[in-house]
Amino acid sequence: MAYDPENVFAKILRGEIPCNKVYEDEFALAFHDINPQAPVHVLVIPKGEYVSMADFTADAPAELVVGYMRAVGKVADELGLIEPGYRTIANAGPNSHQEVPHLHIHIMGGKPLGPMLDKSFG
Ligand code: AMP
Repeated sequence: MAYDPENVFAKILRGEIPCNKVYEDEFALAFHDINPQAPVHVLVIPKGEYVSMADFTADAPAELVVGYMRAVGKVADELGLIEPGYRTIANAGPNSHQEVPHLHIHIMGGKPLGPMLDKSFG
């Protein structure tokens, strides 16, 4: 899938629309999800034009892959989630219900989150 530079997270990265920022470094930007599904729900996005984990890990410079993943861990730590626990999710493609075609890792926590997935796929 080709990267669409008009997606909402690209606009946030360019500063064209605001976000509720929690962390930023040269590799990543983290901000609160606009429609939180847990008491803590933060999105971490890489600073680069990548749709999902597959093209990011295949095509991004190693320094960016490492820097981005370190940022995810750092944000979870700064949010106080390490001890109580948390969940990371990265949706990719139609079956996952990915809405925004710029790689993002959801960090969710702040309460017991229940089972990982709906068990009714049977
Ligand atoms: P996904 O379904 O994995 O693509 O998740 C996209 C997420 O982006 C959803 O949880 C939305 O609530 C969130 N979202 C969409 N637009 C914004 C925005 N402008 N600021 C913050 N979060 C957003």
